[in-house]
Amino acid sequence: MLISGINAHICNRCVDQAQLIVAEEQKLKKKETIPSFKLLKPAEIKSHLDQYVIGQDEAKKVLSVAVYNHYKRIGKSLTSPVAGLNASPKEDEVEIEKSNIVLVGETGTGKTLLARTIAKMLQVPFCIADATVLTEAGYVGEDVESILSRLLQVADYDVAAAERGIVFIDEVDKIARKSDNPSITRDVSGEGVQQALLKILEGSVVSVPPQGGRKHPEQKMVQINTQNILFICGGAFDGIEKRISSRLQTNAIGYSVSKEQKALDKDNMLQYIAPQDLKSFGLIPELVGRMPVLSYLNPLDSDALRRILTEPRNALIKQYTKLFELDEIKLKIDEEVYDLIVEKAVEFRLGARGLRSICEIIMLDAMYNSPSGKPNQQVHITIDYALNQLNSSKPDRLRVA
Ligand code: ADP
Repeated sequence: MLISGINAHICNRCVDQAQLIVAEEQKLKKKETIPSFKLLKPAEIKSHLDQYVIGQDEAKKVLSVAVYNHYKRIGKSLTSPVAGLNASPKEDEVEIEKSNIVLVGETGTGKTLLARTIAKMLQVPFCIADATVLTEAGYVGEDVESILSRLLQVADYDVAAAERGIVFIDEVDKIARKSDNPSITRDVSGEGVQQALLKILEGSVVSVPPQGGRKHPEQKMVQINTQNILFICGGAFDGIEKRISSRLQTNAIGYSVSKEQKALDKDNMLQYIAPQDLKSFGLIPELVGRMPVLSYLNPLDSDALRRILTEPRNALIKQYTKLFELDEIKLKIDEEVYDLIVEKAVEFRLGARGLRSICEIIMLDAMYNSPSGKPNQQVHITIDYALNQLNSSKPDRLRVA
């Protein structure tokens, strides 16, 4: 059937097709304007984190506020009619800038866990990128854009969802400038990567190869706007304590010297970290400037390790109990065994990651034998049993550098 217009005709099939296109477009627009997550208040975000992460109150607080502000800002730009990068803000409108986050703390203190827990709570795409494999474009290694390819894959190639995601860049300290004086050779995995990161961190439209890998000219690219992607960078920054204390000592000239110095907690210098320490560690000032929220994680002491073992939602002991329960076996562990596990983790300086390997050694025989035993049995781990298991395992297994 042909429907005639003034200068042209349109057939019934084209009308149907056009109607479908219009419906699709309207659906997309609707999806873009309604944020699909419920925004919790900072205190609610923190209390959610408390269920999974032990201690680290300062980092949790900073993170909760930063994430809350970030998503409030997105919510505002999504619901306002002038959304997007190209829209010019109204004259009197205050533009809220985005604040990427840096978390500094020893390895195994919960940096990744914090970022992962937040992403899960917000139900936004989340990916972890390792800064050590990144190199400047054109060199062996991965391009910085590969981070966004991964986010896109996690978001099931839904660009709008990826543009609201969270990226955790681990080991950001490894891309620090290798030496203080600019040398004649290019620093392709250090400063070069920092320069490349600048662009995506500050918010721009980046061409991303959807399958990851190297960019090449014939490839189809996806445009991703990074303006609303939250970047959380984590790093151990080994040796930064010395830089912090030397900064504090050089600053402490004047009348109030003795008073200030007394208040310093020498065992945990990380708590005084400031952006200039990251600079003196080898991050370029532009990059430090684009990560305005800075927080630290405390080293885990034996009290914290003890709590990590039993308290969080997914605590190790809860996981073992569940594993045995699936075989209808009741697991009972004496309190002293917990103390022993923590003591060993501290002795071998394994941190929270070591708790698991120690537990595995203690539980191995029980997990091997009990499923073939009688149903409804009880496995009781006593201190003698645990000591015996630890001593009979290869003594060097737990020893790490
Ligand atoms: P990193 O700081 O190196 O990113 P992770 O977050 O990956 O460390 O921590 C490693 C593991 O140690 C986590 O999966 C978690 O089981 C445990 N862990 C570390 N810190 C904590 C903490 N504060 N509370 C609970 N579990 C923790």
